[in-house]
Amino acid sequence: MSVILPGRQGEGRWDRQRRIAWMDMGRISSASALVLGAGALGNEAVKNLALAGVRRITLVDMDRAERSNLSRCALLRDSDSETGRFKAEAVAARAAEMDPGCRVAPVCGRVEDLPDGEWGRHDIVLGCLDNIQARLHANAHACHAGVPYIDGGTDGMSGRVQVVMPGGPCFQCGLNRSHYKVLERRFSCTGAGVVFHEPPRAAEITTTSIIAAIQVREAMKILSGRAAIRHAVYYDGLAGRLDELELDVDPECPLHQRG
Ligand SMILES: [Zn+2]
Repeated sequence: MSVILPGRQGEGRWDRQRRIAWMDMGRISSASALVLGAGALGNEAVKNLALAGVRRITLVDMDRAERSNLSRCALLRDSDSETGRFKAEAVAARAAEMDPGCRVAPVCGRVEDLPDGEWGRHDIVLGCLDNIQARLHANAHACHAGVPYIDGGTDGMSGRVQVVMPGGPCFQCGLNRSHYKVLERRFSCTGAGVVFHEPPRAAEITTTSIIAAIQVREAMKILSGRAAIRHAVYYDGLAGRLDELELDVDPECPLHQRG
């Protein structure tokens, strides 16, 4: 039987959540989360983190709101796309409306431009990114800083979440040949002075919600000292299947080389 502690003033907000015995609300409320991307996944992740009681969030995104974002972004408004407001700023403002006790610090820039010292300031990193380059960057920096990294991605009605714990198999360990082909194409085109644009992928809100919810649930488990998934889950929205995939450290992965 779980024991319900009498909450301090204002803590009745999480009364129901406290009834989950393993949920460490002290740790969750004092944690700092770094959320990379304020697009569809990032909107859902910030919404869930704020509702779940995380009080300090840093949100990084270089893009401005567009009309095509509005079908999947609960915290963006028509006015944001009309004025071309930075997504990170808009989401931070809406999170503060949801709960004034939650501070979201917007960083309107590239993930790759975050100072090296930034990564270690946080207790958890959530990758809500739409390209492999930025995810590799996030994976490497979170690994070096020893901070758990939870990567999410969607493609139409399917999605994937990978939890990278310090020293365990990382996002780069889990890459396959087709991922590297995308990277080669990107780098070779950029090198030739041509900017390579990947076409927008199909996306819809229900898959986005599920993937971001899994990311935030794993974050809450990790922050509460509970074991996270090992190590990735694939979600097939049409079949309604969720499959877990255990990964191994790739001995060729540069992030696990000693010395
Ligand atoms: Zn690795």
